[in-house]
Amino acid sequence: MVTGCDCAFCKEEAEDEVGYFWMVTRPTATSEIADIVSLVSARHIALLVAGGLKPSDIMGTYISETKAVWAAKRLLTHTP
Ligand SMILES: [Zn+2]
Repeated sequence: MVTGCDCAFCKEEAEDEVGYFWMVTRPTATSEIADIVSLVSARHIALLVAGGLKPSDIMGTYISETKAVWAAKRLLTHTP
């Protein structure tokens, strides 16, 4: 199993059958690939949203890191 984030929230005891997956968020004008691709759990996304991430800025979630990076590259190419 891929181990992602070390934050306290992800480590809390809770059932998580899904585990970690890749999330791509909406780029800004200065974003690079690493800024918009991250390995997350569903609980970690909940934490990010509570911290101000807009659900509409989540551009995709992927099992495959390769697909996530492709999606991110496509977004960066098409973002002015
Ligand atoms: Zn976390």
